[in-house]
Amino acid sequence: MKLPKYSMGVGDRFARQGEAQLRAMVAARESGVSVAPVWNKSNREHKIVGTRPESVRAEADAAVRSLGWTDPYYVDADHIGPAHVDEFAQASDFFTIDVAETIGRPADAREVGLFVEKHVKYAGTLEIPGLAESLTIDRDMIETVASQFLRAVHEARDVFHKIVAAKGSDDFVTEMSMDETSRPQTPVELLFILAALADQRVPVQTIAPRFSGRFNKGVDYVGDVNRFAEEFEADLAILAFAREEFGLPANLKLSVHSGSDKFSIYGPIRRALRRFDAGIHVKTAGTTWLEEVIGLAAAGGDGLETAKQIYRAAHGRRDELCGPYASVIDIDPVKLPSPGEVDGWDENAFVSALRHDRACGQYNPHLRQLLHVGYKVAAEMGGRYLDMLDKHADIVGRNVTENILERHLRPLFLDD
Ligand SMILES: [Zn+2]
Repeated sequence: MKLPKYSMGVGDRFARQGEAQLRAMVAARESGVSVAPVWNKSNREHKIVGTRPESVRAEADAAVRSLGWTDPYYVDADHIGPAHVDEFAQASDFFTIDVAETIGRPADAREVGLFVEKHVKYAGTLEIPGLAESLTIDRDMIETVASQFLRAVHEARDVFHKIVAAKGSDDFVTEMSMDETSRPQTPVELLFILAALADQRVPVQTIAPRFSGRFNKGVDYVGDVNRFAEEFEADLAILAFAREEFGLPANLKLSVHSGSDKFSIYGPIRRALRRFDAGIHVKTAGTTWLEEVIGLAAAGGDGLETAKQIYRAAHGRRDELCGPYASVIDIDPVKLPSPGEVDGWDENAFVSALRHDRACGQYNPHLRQLLHVGYKVAAEMGGRYLDMLDKHADIVGRNVTENILERHLRPLFLDD
């Protein structure tokens, strides 16, 4: 199973928007670019919403059937470790193996020694095509990278084998993610991480490094855009070199996690992909759920009422809801409107505050991030929330499709 050049991870917390999401890919394909949808859901999301991996498979298959999508699509076991393999194995054909926790745990000295001996030939000045400056590498650097990352790579290998055993086949897509770590990986680190993956025969097709800057959930990139662009291009150059040099899968590409809404870096990403003729996997960060709330608010009446109730509850439970996401959100409580104020809003006021339109003066990223982590409130509403989604399916679906197509696929893949 070979992941195509362009793919996009779409999450759907309440499993109602599969078709609306796929409609965006259908429209992009009609404009000449095929982007494979990858329906992803993490164990944490399943636990909070009370769903199982099979529900994601059922949703994806139904959407594909209904719209007659004939290009590839996938169901992603998102950010899994060894403990989750059995639960996700049958329903998934794409596995995001998360090794972030193992990074930095010192590797076995003998393994490090063997790795250094094998790769010390890269010490000195290494020219990498497409890289502005040559890399200067010495033996100590190789040893440091090995001791920092070998255990993580071995963990990826072990999880990969566990998945093969559980599925009885290696016909799936393997991703390795290192994004949920405290510091970005350097190009030299990425080079030797890829060497280690090749040594361990992990057929990784996409890899998610940690980039510099902040990738907060549902809002724009925060950081130095030029620095990001340089880093992204350096990673593309390293990947192209490593594929050939180490014999990694020819379609190996970069993943950008929490990649939705990072509007200020989409231009640099699109230009870099063209320059390097490179592919990409962009994982969106649960923003379909926000489009549901936008659609309900826009519907007015009981839809708008539901959106206001969700905001009121989320506002009151801010610490609890933000806790698990503390490292990926930045909310200034002073900038949050009170629930009483929001109760007085009409549909336009609510939609303008929540929708991610940077040109709109009413857009409020603090309210948006709070609602982003507030899906637990809707999960607890249970049938009442789902009934609202069904009742206002048209307007909700339109918002879901438009968000993926106009604000994501177009600037990433379709713009000139
Ligand atoms: Zn991630």
